[in-house]
Amino acid sequence: MEILSGLTQSEIEKITDELKASKFRARQIHNWIYLKSVSSIDEMTDLSVKFREELKQIATVSETKIKVKQVSSDGTIKYLLEYPDGECVETVLMRFDNRANLTACVSSQVGCAVNCSFCATGKRGFIRNLTYKEIIEQVLTIQRDTGLKVTNVVFMGQGEPLLNLDQVLKAMEIFNEDFQIGARRLTVSTSGIIPQIYKLADLNLQSTLAISLHAPNHAIRSKLMQIENKYNMDELKKALKYYVNQTGRRITIEYLLIKGLNDTVEAAKELAHYLHDIKCNINLIPYNPTAQNDYKRPDNKSIMQFKYLLEHSGKKVTVRLERGADIDAACGQLKGKVD
Ligand code: SAH
Ligand code: SF4
Repeated sequence: MEILSGLTQSEIEKITDELKASKFRARQIHNWIYLKSVSSIDEMTDLSVKFREELKQIATVSETKIKVKQVSSDGTIKYLLEYPDGECVETVLMRFDNRANLTACVSSQVGCAVNCSFCATGKRGFIRNLTYKEIIEQVLTIQRDTGLKVTNVVFMGQGEPLLNLDQVLKAMEIFNEDFQIGARRLTVSTSGIIPQIYKLADLNLQSTLAISLHAPNHAIRSKLMQIENKYNMDELKKALKYYVNQTGRRITIEYLLIKGLNDTVEAAKELAHYLHDIKCNINLIPYNPTAQNDYKRPDNKSIMQFKYLLEHSGKKVTVRLERGADIDAACGQLKGKVD
């Protein structure tokens, strides 16, 4: 059985050729899959009943199931999806104030090998890479379930996208061409896999690169992220400068704020110094407590003080609004609970 989700226009044409139908039929099917996001062939109502019956003999829309769906009071929706082999990942839909923007937060791997100390996904270890079809299936599932069109995609769910770069790049190409989501509306977030950052820089994409920095210096970062011992902040900085030089794009720095650990006045000053010659915006993320460790969220006063100190250094700083806190919509948390 062919799965239609994830097929490009020319791949769908192979199916319509087989059924001796025109290329125009392939275009109609393509629209039903990516833009109108139907769940079944029967819903493709501009195809004749006879043609739909023939198509149903050899193809189906999708075999991915929604295992759990949670809706937060702020409108954030979190899904736990199950692929045909039984592996699950989470994907989150966030609506920001501007209702026209619908952001899907997608996973790139089942589990993650990077094992950051604060992250629930890391605790599971690495299970497997997702294929590009499995990645885009997350966005299609959201569109099918809500009837809405996703406008932005961030690779901030489970997994390290730069350790599955080929599949992630192919998924980005499909988001761009088939979903018609502009490259600037795609964001790849990484813990800092340096060789792959150089590779991305040379591809000169217009998408946004987000770096999970989370610390102002080597000592604190290596406590939070083992990856710092392999790819340290000095080397990371060189890679980020290269990236900005090659692409002209501004980087997003993600900084998790953990009480008493990396939220002090000294940390803010040290961070400002580290970033002073990097073209970037900073996104502060108040830590969302998980059951597996003792880290705590700082109080609002220290968050605002930290923000102020960084702004003083001339950077644009945003504090990530807590989305779906009541449904544990931070990285890796739902899967942690279902296990
Ligand atoms: N592996 C990539 C992509 C996943 S992004 C990366 O780490 O960048 C997942 C984001 O969620 C990261 O910025 C991570 O730091 C953040 N995150 C993980 N656990 C969190 C928690 N408990 N509270 C808030 N943010 C968390
Ligand atoms: Fe992996 Fe990112 Fe979680 Fe670190 S924060 S363990 S890199 S998913």
